[in-house]
Parts: sequence; structure tokens; C-alpha cells
Amino acid sequence: MVSSKKKKVCVVGAGVSGLVSARELRREGHDVTVMEQSGGVGGQWLYDPRTDGDDPRRGRRAQGSIYASLRLNTPRESMGFSDFPFFPSNDGAGVDARRYPVHGEFLRYIRDFCDAFGLMDVVRFNTKILHVGPLAPRGHDGGVPRWTVRCSSRRGGCEGDAVTAEEVFDAVVVAVGQHNQPRLPAINGMDKWSRRQLHSHSYRAPDSFKDQVVVVVGCRPSGTDIALELREAARDVHISVKSMDDGVTVFPGMRQAVSRHHNLHLHLQANRLLVRGRAGGVRRRLLHCRRRHHLLHRVRLLVPVPGHGRSGHRHRRRQPYKHTFPPALAPALSFVGVPKRVVVPRFYEAQAMWVAQVLSGRRTLPPEAEMARAAEEYNRAREAAGVPKRLTHDIFDLEYCDAFGETRCGFPRLEDRKKELLWSSVKSISRCHGELP
Ligand SMILES: Cc1cc2nc3c(=O)[nH]c(=O)nc-3n(C[C@H](O)[C@H](O)[C@H](O)COP(=O)(O)OP(=O)(O)OC[C@H]3O[C@@H](n4cnc5c(N)ncnc54)[C@H](O)[C@@H]3O)c2cc1C
Repeated sequence: MVSSKKKKVCVVGAGVSGLVSARELRREGHDVTVMEQSGGVGGQWLYDPRTDGDDPRRGRRAQGSIYASLRLNTPRESMGFSDFPFFPSNDGAGVDARRYPVHGEFLRYIRDFCDAFGLMDVVRFNTKILHVGPLAPRGHDGGVPRWTVRCSSRRGGCEGDAVTAEEVFDAVVVAVGQHNQPRLPAINGMDKWSRRQLHSHSYRAPDSFKDQVVVVVGCRPSGTDIALELREAARDVHISVKSMDDGVTVFPGMRQAVSRHHNLHLHLQANRLLVRGRAGGVRRRLLHCRRRHHLLHRVRLLVPVPGHGRSGHRHRRRQPYKHTFPPALAPALSFVGVPKRVVVPRFYEAQAMWVAQVLSGRRTLPPEAEMARAAEEYNRAREAAGVPKRLTHDIFDLEYCDAFGETRCGFPRLEDRKKELLWSSVKSISRCHGELP
């Protein structure tokens, strides 16, 4: 059913979250424009051979974080949208029909999804959103604010030829992703380290590490992948981990890999860097493979919310209701793609469907105070369970994902077979991508 309450909606970002938001909003009868800062769809999956250079402390240019050899670590069966399965592409050249294919196969799937639902027509490429702000403060009648969106568009994708413009929308869906802001660890002496250091965000291939000694900080999926790949080019790879607990920061397979390969070494947390000259002419490099900043750190810059600053308490108060609607600005402002360790992209699809239905009036939200209270209770429960603040939106619960979709918007549950596959992939990540039998 298409509602007559058609809204003019701006979606920020053309990754999987933004694209599925556009599809759901259009299905619900809304008028949609997607603004995308890069020249193509796919977000993280649009491989960008450029990097931020060799010093993560300096400014950045590259948006994508994926490296050349990256393969999906979730099975293709669970990586499809609910009604558009991720089958091997028929495209011929470069097709990777494996269950865990290379990244280009998923990009191809995203492009097919856009073609199937006519989404290319609604995306404005090379258009970066600079600011989103309410057109006028929310009235005493509680009326929903409209939004002024300021963006900068590069004609023909050229840097020097940008035009800034403003446009008014009834609603804004923020889908800017969360894996493109490197988060650096605090290591003593890091600022004085004159040798090369980079974040995994800027890692693409091992070639430039040939015969070097490399310290890899962090040993989760990216760190593990990269360390194992580097081992083949570098002289020595030293992996620094927070704790030696198997399964917590060291995947069991990594320990096996270390015992098998003479140039792979595991160390407890690097907390000090000393520059002591060149050991035998060997060049040393430091590679940070830590998590990336959470999405909300960035959204705060994009969407200033009155009365909500950066302090911890206020930060908590800004938490969106059910990871989606900031209570004070709902439903005109929403976030799709905030939760991590959910079934991607299905969870984002359910969020998008919910947003579209709320905007058309098919679903209603609780009053603002109730949403704020629910978000607060959720946070308190997470805190009580010892979950660090930065992991507020890490879900890692397939039942929660199903319940979210079903309750919010009647989204179908993930089939048991696919759940089993997903769980087995989580276990196989622990086996270090094939390092264990
Ligand atoms: C190394 C790596 C490996 C991964 N492997 C897997 C995997 O195997 N399985 C899995 O399920 N997930 C994986 N992920 C997670 C992956 O990021 C998500 O699957 C998914 O791509 C998130 O999509 P998104 O649309 O939310 O964000 P993104 O893909 O980041 O897209 C956000 C889009 O917003 C645009 N944007 C941002 N700011 C602005 C602005 N101001 N104006 C206009 N446009 C803007 C960006 O250019 C981008 O196109 C991986 C991530 C990384 C980094």
C-alpha cells in the first residue's frame, strides 16, 4: 500500500544503507534524493586504490577502507537483501561464485540492486553534505521540523570546481556508514615516531612492505588478514594485542599461524614506541588495525542537535531510539546503518522500511519522552552488562535482529539455514580465514 502522505526525503550516502533506504522510501511513495560524496554507489565496497598516505595523524582524502585482497567474512546467503538474493553474478569476467567472494563481487551485486530498483536515477554523485539543520525550531505545537541541507557538488567530479547549494527537505535519513574514520590507539611516543605509520584504513596491498619489519597493532579480522598477508612480503611481522586471551583478542588460528611461520610474532600490547636507529638497515613501520570511529561521532558534526553537546552524559542522551530515531527530532531525522554486528544488509533494510512507514504515517512512534526513556534504559542495561560506551550499538544477537524487524515493520525473519551459515562463519573467522583445517 502506498500512502498519500508523500514526503520529500534526502538520504545521505549511497552505501548499502542509503540505497536500501532509497528503495524503501520510494516503495512507500516518497520523493527521494540520495546525496553521495563519491562518484559511485557501494560505499565501503567501492574499492578505492587511493589512500590517506603514510601518516594517519594527518588529514585524509580516501573514503574507502577495504584492501585489494579482501573477501567477505559473512556468507553470500546472508548478505542479500530480503527479496533480492546475492547469487553469483552472470557477468562473466571476474565472477567469484564462492560463498565468501572477493569484495568486487558484492559491489557488482549492489549495482545490480540499483538497476533492478531504478535507484541510479535518484543518486546525486560527487555531492557532499556539509550541514543538515532544522529550517526553524520545532514549534510549541510539536510540529515536525523541515530540514535545510547544504551540500557541495563537484561538477564532473573535479575537486576545484565545487558549487555549494542549499535545499529544503521534509525529512533526512543519515546513512553515512561507520567504517571510514580511523581510530588511533594512544601509544606513548607515537607522535615522535618518525618512521612510517598507517591505519588499516589506508592499507591496500603488501607490496610496499617488502623486506620491512612491521608492527601490526590489533588482531581482529582486519588485523589478522593484514598480518597474514604481510608475512609473505615483510621480513618480520610483530602483532601487538591487548590481551593474550584466546578468542578475546587473539583468534585461536592466529596463535597456530604464529607457531607455523618464523617471521610472525605475537606480543602483549605495544604501549611505548622508541626510535632507536635502523636495526641492520631494516626499515620499520607501524600499522594500526584498530576499530574505526563510530558513526555518531561524525553525525554530530553533520547534524548539530540543539542542547546536545559532546560531553558523555549528553552524548548518551542523543542516542537514537532503537538505533534509528533521535527522540527530539523524530521522525524527520533518522539514522540507518548505525548498529554493528547485525545481519548486514538485512538489518539496515528493516530500519529503512520502518523509517519509510513512519514517515508515511503507516506506523507511529511513541511520544518523545517515552522514546528518550527507552533509549536511556537500553544504554543503562548495556552499561550494567559492562559494555563500553563505544560499543553501545554492537548487537551480535540474531534473535534481536529478527525481533527488531518483525516488531517495527513486519520484516521477515532470517531463515534458520542462513542463521546457521552465519554462525558458522563467525566461528570460521576464529579459524583465521583458512589457517585452521
Ligand atoms: C575492511 C572491511 C571489511 C568488511 N567486511 C564485511 C563483511 O565481510 N560482511 C559484512 O556484512 N560487512 C562487512 N563490512 C562492513 C561494511 O561496511 C558494511 O557491510 C556496509 O558496507 C555498511 O554500509 P553503509 O551504507 O552503512 O556504509 P558505507 O558503506 O560506509 O557507505 C556510506 C556512504 O556514505 C557516503 N557519505 C559519507 N559522508 C557523506 C557526506 N557527508 N555526504 C555525502 N555522502 C557521504 C560515503 O561516501 C559512502 O558512500 C566490512 C567493512 C570494512 C571496512
